[in-house]
Amino acid sequence: MSRFAKSPWIIHYDASSCNGCDIEVLACLTPGFDVERLGVVNTGNPKHADLFLVTGAVNEQCRDVICNIYHQMAEPKVVIAVGICAASGGIFRECYNISGGVDSVIPVDVYVPGCAARPEAIIDGVVQALGVLEKKQKEMAALASNLDRTQYLHADKKDAPEILGLQKTAYQRESAAYGDDCLPALKQTLPEIEAEFDHPAAPAAAEPPVAPPPAPGRTVFLKAVVSGKIIGSVRGYAVGDTTYLSRLIVHPYFQGRGIGRRLLEELEKDFPEVRRFEACAGQKSERSLAQLQKLGFQEFKTGPGPVPITWVYLQKERQ
Ligand code: SF4
Repeated sequence: MSRFAKSPWIIHYDASSCNGCDIEVLACLTPGFDVERLGVVNTGNPKHADLFLVTGAVNEQCRDVICNIYHQMAEPKVVIAVGICAASGGIFRECYNISGGVDSVIPVDVYVPGCAARPEAIIDGVVQALGVLEKKQKEMAALASNLDRTQYLHADKKDAPEILGLQKTAYQRESAAYGDDCLPALKQTLPEIEAEFDHPAAPAAAEPPVAPPPAPGRTVFLKAVVSGKIIGSVRGYAVGDTTYLSRLIVHPYFQGRGIGRRLLEELEKDFPEVRRFEACAGQKSERSLAQLQKLGFQEFKTGPGPVPITWVYLQKERQ
């Protein structure tokens, strides 16, 4: 049994519950069921929590709070939707201010049925969540132990769904910084990313105007692969003597291990004829900006994009 199963830390958030499910969650903690005797800890700090337990449907007021809690939790993490409202919106589903269940804003791993969900069902949901957490933890650990065997390869269109999923995961921290999901990387759809493979001369419409349209056939997608799983990616295209790179992404669990640096080095090798590299990031994306600066990029201008973000443009000369 792992440390998670021995003592899972849970953060509970009441989205827009009628309080029926919350009372049942409290019943789990009080002497009748007393899950603390089994090592379950109810914490108020997302950074300490392994499981995120949500009751109630999602409305406009709690949407950002749910996202913020989720993004502050460390990987691996598991989300439990407790009650029919958290699962689908329930009886509030058609209300003007309800966007749906918890999975309308974050991925949910375990659904606990009921209105209200019974304490026994909630405890069963936590036990299921521990199984999911354990599985995720083992997968991450297995990948991490093989990082020295990471392959840096060209991606093709069949990789688009996996790269898009990774992109949405990697940009969650940015989403928290900007307070909504206006970032082009988070809004991109599967047909749009597939179109980038099909028609490299047509970057996504929501992209900031970093460059003139690329020459056909010069867009390159790279992927970092461990044990068959994509954990990082970057794309770039050349115009004249400049390569414009975008979407340098690494799974949050594997950040800070040199994968972003290797992806950039590999991308540079794909464009031996260019002398200059250009990238951009949102002004509040401190981590991305710091990473690019660490890799030798220097800011040369800022400017607004087609979405309400101030973009910082950085460049680097080939060494
Ligand atoms: S599922 Fe039922 S008890 Fe739970 S929050 Fe919704 S209406 Fe209330």
